[in-house]
Amino acid sequence: MTRTVFLLIAMAALAAGQEVRFVGKTKYLHGARAVVVHSIDDSTRLVPETIAAMDKYGIKATLFVSTEHDPAPEDRFFTQLQIRELWPRLRKAVADGHEIGSHSRQHPCKKPDSEDFCAAAYTDYEIAGSRDDILRLTQQPYVWSWCYPCGNCATYPFIQKRIAAAGYVVARNYPNELTNGHVRPDIQDFDSNAMNTGYTQVVQHRNGRKDDTIDVAAINAKFDEVYRKGGIYHFMSHPQWLDFGPDGFYEQHLRHVSGKKDAWYVPMGPLYAFRTIRDSTAVKPEAEPETFSVAHALDQKIYGGAVTLEFDAPEDTAVLADGVVLPEAREAMLSGWDHEYVHRQGRRAFVTVRPNKELAFVRLEPAANLSGAWTLRYKTANGLERVSTLTLLQTGTALSGTLAGERGSAPVTEGHIEGARVVLTVVRKGNGDEVPVRLQGTLVGGELKLWLSFPGDPPILAIARR
Ligand SMILES: [Zn+2]
Repeated sequence: MTRTVFLLIAMAALAAGQEVRFVGKTKYLHGARAVVVHSIDDSTRLVPETIAAMDKYGIKATLFVSTEHDPAPEDRFFTQLQIRELWPRLRKAVADGHEIGSHSRQHPCKKPDSEDFCAAAYTDYEIAGSRDDILRLTQQPYVWSWCYPCGNCATYPFIQKRIAAAGYVVARNYPNELTNGHVRPDIQDFDSNAMNTGYTQVVQHRNGRKDDTIDVAAINAKFDEVYRKGGIYHFMSHPQWLDFGPDGFYEQHLRHVSGKKDAWYVPMGPLYAFRTIRDSTAVKPEAEPETFSVAHALDQKIYGGAVTLEFDAPEDTAVLADGVVLPEAREAMLSGWDHEYVHRQGRRAFVTVRPNKELAFVRLEPAANLSGAWTLRYKTANGLERVSTLTLLQTGTALSGTLAGERGSAPVTEGHIEGARVVLTVVRKGNGDEVPVRLQGTLVGGELKLWLSFPGDPPILAIARR
């Protein structure tokens, strides 16, 4: 394209108020206004009960465990006796969006610590060994987080270097337990030193003393303060120092901090990795109009997460990432950290993507008459090719029809065109039950690009051609 022609197109776009403009990277993933982080320490038998309580309220945590299966009796810390039984539950927790962090192998502990103690205790066996145990025994691709046993050794730069050298992205402290200094470090944002990071407050009986009353109102008020300021609220607990049940202080607090429509619920490792990804990602316009490169040079294994980019874009555009239409979500997906999607608020488009992609904004074709038969192709999660026939009847903006494949025909129970977006619900009859399948997408270049969502599964891209 000559420069003149390109300019003419750009001017025409500007005249119509149709240009796409990159506004900026959001402070937190999903454009959230605040963040809720939880971490729990030690491999006690109460870990599963604690995870169950968190899951009731959608709270995501870093679960710090000590990984030694058979420590010598003199090295045995009481929390290690259950780790052997915990792994299946921990794998399920990873699948549910929690993170497993390292709390060393043997939980070396000395109150107060000393430089000599730290130099001797922080061996490769403890630091790299526990990391390797987690990699071997869970499906987690990386171990981002370290937690200093008993809060020991966190302040020594030579120890921080050993932790960082083993690839940890963040290390959490637990300062001054002996003088109750651990109760409220009151960190309300990212900590400047990632190898000695604090948290906002503890939510637990102090030093295991069950007679220590927990002031739920005060704990909740601290959350309110951080949330109001748009900060990072990080609370930590020891499962062995909690009361369980809906009326206990722990669940009361989980309930209070849960369900905020504009807060990102995330473990601490992915949160600190996100900060690096966000700061390292460059967004640049490409030569093609309305196309942007989104790139960083970080190691994908450690920093494989997404960023959220805000664009000012006309509402009748779809966003393609490396040529694939991104699904649109009505609400930000605040509980995850690896989705890719677009969330719109009028002309504001919040695009959440894993970098090293090219983003292109394409004009949607006005909803043409979609009536007729379409051949719909997609691959199932386990790689099987599926071909079905989607037959549509368009009446105004309403759509009806059927989706027919090898396993029978299913009716379109609800369908409509919303601007340039096509939304369909198909109900499949299974063994005595009904499975609603949602299809949503757009017409691009004569093809219907539809995201198929089966309940509980990530969406699959399907292409329909006439
Ligand atoms: Zn501990």
